[in-house]
Amino acid sequence: YKLRVGISACLLGAQVRFDGGHKRSAFCTQELAQHVEFVPLCPEMGLGLGSPRPAIRLVRQGEGIAAVTSQGGEDLTAPLLAVSQQAMPGMADLSGYILCAKSPSCGMERVRVYGPRGGIKEGVGLFAQTLLTTYPLLPVEEEGRLQDPALRENFILRLFAYHSWQQLMG
Ligand code: SF4
Repeated sequence: YKLRVGISACLLGAQVRFDGGHKRSAFCTQELAQHVEFVPLCPEMGLGLGSPRPAIRLVRQGEGIAAVTSQGGEDLTAPLLAVSQQAMPGMADLSGYILCAKSPSCGMERVRVYGPRGGIKEGVGLFAQTLLTTYPLLPVEEEGRLQDPALRENFILRLFAYHSWQQLMG
């Protein structure tokens, strides 16, 4: 049995980024893929804009944060949150998630939020935020952090622990 682990689709080499490229992770595709079953998702592809598509950035809007296209400033906050919410029920049986860093959708921390003082690394991607609030106990890491052997080992242990807990809870 392989643990099911969600992952930003671009990390598996899918050409789904705004620029038509990917962010293939050697560690995920060559090492971790032997031990887990990856469940890939690209929330931005869910917007139906295809790839390539206009880049999206987080911007400060009053008290809140919005996701807008960098060209034209079209507000995609509501559709991106809707796509993220729709994906949540299908993630109930995942044992963990690996996110692509810095993305306004998938970034888990330190995503640039643009405002009058330029871009400040203080945001969380809208999909990541939805995932973290819906499944607060789910082990989630950014791919870059898994380059660190200690964090990687800790993450894998957390996957197994969470999976056992899910089994116990039925
Ligand atoms: Fe990768 Fe997420 Fe951006 Fe899609 S939205 S390209 S999965 S980082």
